[in-house]
Amino acid sequence: MSPRAIYLPVVNYGTSDEYRYWTNKCPIFYNNLLVSPFTTGRNRSRKHFNGEKLKIYADSGGFQTVTMNKRVASLNVLRWQQRIAHTAFTSDIPPHHFSKNYTKDQFLKCMYQSNKNANLMWEFNKDYDMQLYGVIQGRTYNELKMWYEDLTKDHDYDGYCISLSNNKSDTDLYWLEQLHFASTIPKRIHFLGKSDRLFNAVLSIFAQKQNQCYTFDSSSSNIGGRFGKYIHPITETHLSLSKYESQRDNIESLPCNCPICSKHSLDDLINTTELINLHNLYVKISFCKFANIVSTDDELFKIILKKVIPRNKHRKTIETQVQKLLGLGSMSSSYENSEAIAKIQVKIDESKDLTDFDKEFLKWFTVKFMDLKV
Ligand SMILES: [Zn+2]
Repeated sequence: MSPRAIYLPVVNYGTSDEYRYWTNKCPIFYNNLLVSPFTTGRNRSRKHFNGEKLKIYADSGGFQTVTMNKRVASLNVLRWQQRIAHTAFTSDIPPHHFSKNYTKDQFLKCMYQSNKNANLMWEFNKDYDMQLYGVIQGRTYNELKMWYEDLTKDHDYDGYCISLSNNKSDTDLYWLEQLHFASTIPKRIHFLGKSDRLFNAVLSIFAQKQNQCYTFDSSSSNIGGRFGKYIHPITETHLSLSKYESQRDNIESLPCNCPICSKHSLDDLINTTELINLHNLYVKISFCKFANIVSTDDELFKIILKKVIPRNKHRKTIETQVQKLLGLGSMSSSYENSEAIAKIQVKIDESKDLTDFDKEFLKWFTVKFMDLKV
């Protein structure tokens, strides 16, 4: 597979057949999935996901499982992962469960216990046909390195999983440390718990530079079902679609050409939140495809980066950090906007893994997105 970023939506199995996007009964089909014991359900197994093209990744379900009875819990999780997934992540205890400002002692305590669990899972998975990724935690390059070296002192893993959920601040781009560290590991890596457009775009070009495939996830498409939130296809802002006029954002028709919005009315979506989830999912998947396409050309990426960096006082710092990470020269693109649009559209047309519908959608998206002011 050519280098790319691959988005994994967190599967909520509790939807009816027609909204299960991993089957051909649903108007949207997507084959890369992240399952978790709590969201997807411990009683689900691969037979609930019959489809040859599916690639199922299994989370361990968070540190709750390993803080109870560690050995039993880790192996129970592993048995479930072996029944359902092609690739699974080890159980870990994130140091930030103490606090965001955890101490070195707290970090080491979590690291030793997590790596003990990971080794146990590795031992019991040796003879199975499932890939096991070792989870790595850390705020800084040095913490990540220390955790990784302890995790791999006896053997390595099929891949690694780096948690990005330890800091919610949007001004401090902590995940650049994680990507910097990831550049030293020549294996596939999953980035846990982050999927905004800035991260997606940077991960796509990082994949090109590293000649590697990386996965990342979030449960954000499910905000349709949970909160009635509709992701704007161009700006990614979250609009509120509510049954109650007074609580609804000022929206009269759906601003989107996706397979859901092009066949349904605003009222349909308001009355069936699963349709909002599917629209949201399509928007997330499409942006990921778009980011992979533009990332094959540094000059195109520079234009996209300016459009996805948040408009705040940290813009310049973020741009400089990304430039340094990726070894890019001047951050001004040598392309004019219209030239960039034409180049992207050619790449979309030439892309072999897009359906005709996806190509039309992405070309429509490109024109609107490139029109956004920076
Ligand atoms: Zn839509």
